[in-house]
Parts: sequence; structure tokens; C-alpha cells
Amino acid sequence: MPIQEKIVMYDSPEAASYQTGLSGWVNRDGFFWKEDEHMARWSGCTHLICEKCGAVYPRNGWCHPCREKRMAEQFAAYPVEKWDGETPCCVFDSDIYFFDEDSLLDYVAEHEPDTELRICKCKPMHLSFVNEDNWADDLPEDGELPDEVAAAVEALNKAISEAGPVSWWEDKIAIDVEDLRSQL
Ligand SMILES: [Zn+2]
Repeated sequence: MPIQEKIVMYDSPEAASYQTGLSGWVNRDGFFWKEDEHMARWSGCTHLICEKCGAVYPRNGWCHPCREKRMAEQFAAYPVEKWDGETPCCVFDSDIYFFDEDSLLDYVAEHEPDTELRICKCKPMHLSFVNEDNWADDLPEDGELPDEVAAAVEALNKAISEAGPVSWWEDKIAIDVEDLRSQL
């Protein structure tokens, strides 16, 4: 049995009632939070103090020093590999990607030898296969695709598997930058 939602009509005394002598917390937008000072202050402020590091950060954003620290720890935990000379790479946590040796080595050369460079290996993304389930809502229960469509799906999936990667994404593997520097 589904739980029936209670019906309250517009003119019902339950819908609203006239109050006098209210007291409590009202936030900057005029929203009444009753005794909840925390929620009133939280919803009415624009900035907060980070509990971890004490920095001021926007309520609808995040603490940059803490994020930077977290990302540095994340990168430091990645296994390190020598670049294989082929697999695309990227700068960790960025939209800077390298699809050939020249662009990667140029980037390394542009930075002083003692700069910490965070380079990640990329992993390939393939198109996902088409599945009969795509039409589950259209077919009757235990129904099957028409033969021509089933054959076309099979041909499409074959083409997809032969097409190779369609994009590259940052992998959780760090590239040995000293090894790259030795190739300059
Ligand atoms: Zn912080």
C-alpha cells in the first residue's frame, strides 16, 4: 500500500495560521529560522572560516588552501611510471593535455628544473556499446529486436570496438618527470 500524502486545503487552518509575538532568528533574506541560530547564520552569510586551516572561504565554494593540500596528497599517493613515449599525458587536475612527445617535452622544458611538475598518464575512453536494453521500454516482455535491427546493432558494436579510443582522461598514475627532463 503506498503511503497516502495528507491533503491540506488552501483555506484549512492547518495550511497557515496568524501568529503574534514571534521571536527567533531571521536571516539576511528574511527567512524565519525560529531558535535555530546556526542555520539562520549559515544561510544568511556569504563566507565561512575553514575549520581545518582557519582560512576564509565562500559558503558556496571551498577552502582553496585545503583543496590544494588534499590534491597534493592525492597526487603524491599515485604510483610513478616512466613515460612510454606514446600514451597521452596531462597536467594533474587541469585541462592541459599532451598528445605527442614534442608538446610534453616542451612543457617540461618551459619549467625550471627545480619546479614541481605534476604530470599524469592518461587512460583511454571507448564509446560504450549499444545494448538491446536501450529498447526495453518499447519491446513487449521477452520481446526480441527485429532481425535487421539486431544485425545492425551487432555491426555497430563491431565498428565501435574497432574504432579505438575516442578520448583520453587523467589516470591515477604519475609520470616520472626527472626521466622526462633527462630526455630534453
Ligand atoms: Zn582550509
